[in-house]
Amino acid sequence: MNWKAKYKTFKKWQQRPYVVAPISKEEHDCPTCHTRYVGNFCPRCGQSATIGRYSFRTALLNFLNVWGIGNRSMFRTLRDLILRPGYMIRDYLMGMQMAYFPPFQMLFLLTTFSFFVIYGFNIKGQTLDDSKKEAITIMEEGEEGDADDGLDAEVGMKVFKWCMDIQEKSPTLISLLCIVFMSGLLHLFFRHSKLIPDMRYSEFLMATIYIANMMSIYEIVMLFFCVPAGWVSLISMSMAIIPLKQLSGFSWGRTILYGVLTYIVAVFVLLFLVTILMALLYLLFSNTEDLGLFTF
Ligand SMILES: [Zn+2]
Repeated sequence: MNWKAKYKTFKKWQQRPYVVAPISKEEHDCPTCHTRYVGNFCPRCGQSATIGRYSFRTALLNFLNVWGIGNRSMFRTLRDLILRPGYMIRDYLMGMQMAYFPPFQMLFLLTTFSFFVIYGFNIKGQTLDDSKKEAITIMEEGEEGDADDGLDAEVGMKVFKWCMDIQEKSPTLISLLCIVFMSGLLHLFFRHSKLIPDMRYSEFLMATIYIANMMSIYEIVMLFFCVPAGWVSLISMSMAIIPLKQLSGFSWGRTILYGVLTYIVAVFVLLFLVTILMALLYLLFSNTEDLGLFTF
């Protein structure tokens, strides 16, 4: 088989929804309630038919279940988010919910996991404190240049440290806020798509959470290999084009154009919000000596 044919087969595989294995005709006797039944789960008490004697495999799955990942859907979701993200999201929105890991739960798990990577589980053993110190040094070096407005620089530094503090203390809250913000803007451009002509905002929010999860997977891998932070955001943001294209059915050109437009609008809206926020914070901080008032 040549490459073109292989690519065609792959494309077909990407677009075809996941097929659940057929039910077995085997009869089971439920060990919990002694109901006899055919199928994967006991209709009376809900126990799985695959439960037998304890093995290392069941022990491991039981252990993984503490985080809700003791079934195959987590691995299938990871695979599909990498190989066919947009089609997977389409299938999920069309109702195939049991086949995939719930999006919010996945967001929390991935955020927790990326914390391990940021806090030292990476090839260089670099911790968040190292990168924070680096950022502060860069800020301070930049400020040494303009010595005459010393007060402004001091207040700017306080605001900067305060922002870093919030991000460190509530990362899931911050990423949820980002997702809600971005999905709102993306929805403006992608709601009348070719494949899903009338996508509701609630559906698009779910889609955006899965897209954020896909981006997290790439970010975790890159952070593990200590790729510089700027590249990490640039690459993971570019990757978001793939699910948007697959989900909407727009051409590559149109998807990239809409993606860039969303980004530009987002930057302007954020600049506007940040200006207002900075003005407020400036007023607050320049009037208060004791910063202890604002610790969270
Ligand atoms: Zn039973």
